[in-house]
Amino acid sequence: MRQQLIVEDEPAIAELIAVNLRHNGFRPTWAMDSTSAQRELDDVLPAVILLDWMLPGESGLTLAKRWRAHPRTKAVPIIMLTARGDESDRVTGLDAGADDYIAKPFSTKELLARMRAVLRRRAPEQVASAVSVGALSLDASTYRVTFAGQPLKLGPTEFKLLTYLMSHAERVHSRGQLLDKVWGDHVFIEERTVDVHVKRLREALGPQAGPMIETVRGAGYRLTAQSTPPAAARASV
Ligand code: CA
Repeated sequence: MRQQLIVEDEPAIAELIAVNLRHNGFRPTWAMDSTSAQRELDDVLPAVILLDWMLPGESGLTLAKRWRAHPRTKAVPIIMLTARGDESDRVTGLDAGADDYIAKPFSTKELLARMRAVLRRRAPEQVASAVSVGALSLDASTYRVTFAGQPLKLGPTEFKLLTYLMSHAERVHSRGQLLDKVWGDHVFIEERTVDVHVKRLREALGPQAGPMIETVRGAGYRLTAQSTPPAAARASV
C-alpha cells in the first residue's frame, strides 16, 4: 500500500492521526500547509489524502478542487477533515471533489473505517486479497504466488504488477495504464520500465505460467487464463 498524506496545520491533530494510522499498518506522511502538501504530492502519489479544510495559505477546499482537476491526482481519494460540520459545508466539501467528509472532533476508529471504505471504493487493486486465474493463485495478504500449487518467487515490483494483472485479467492494459496503476506515479519512470518488469515477471513465473502474460502488439499487456496456442495447434483445429 502506498503512503497516506495527512494535510493538517495543527501538529497535535496530525500526530494523533499519524500515530493511529501507523498503529494500523499504514505509512502516513504529514504536510502542514498547502505548499508542502503540493510538494509531497509532486514527489509521491499517496493512496489517500486526509485533508484539513482550514489551512494557512490555500484552503483544503481549493486544494481538493485543484487535485481533482489534475489528471495525475484526480483518482486519489480525498477525505476532508474539518471543524465545519454544517450541512452546507459538507455539501461544499463533497462538491469540491472530496470522497468523504469527517467533522472534528472525530474518533480515530471512525476515521480509519472511512479511510478503508474509501480505499475499497476508489482503488480496489490496493486492497489485499486472494485471486486466482487458471492455475495461478496469488494471496496479497500472505505475499504468496503459486502455480498449480507450486510456490513461485517474485520480486516486489513483479508481485505488484502480477497483483494488478490478475485482479484485471483478460483485459489489455497499456504501459501508461500499468505505470499509473502499479507504480502509482509515473512522472519519473519511462514506459520501458514496464517491459523490463514484465520480462522479469515472465521469467519468475516460469515456462508454464509465463506465457499467461501476453504482449498485445501496439496495445500493451494482458494476463489471460487461455494463453494463445502455438501456431501448429491452432492450424489443426
Ligand atoms: Ca486547520
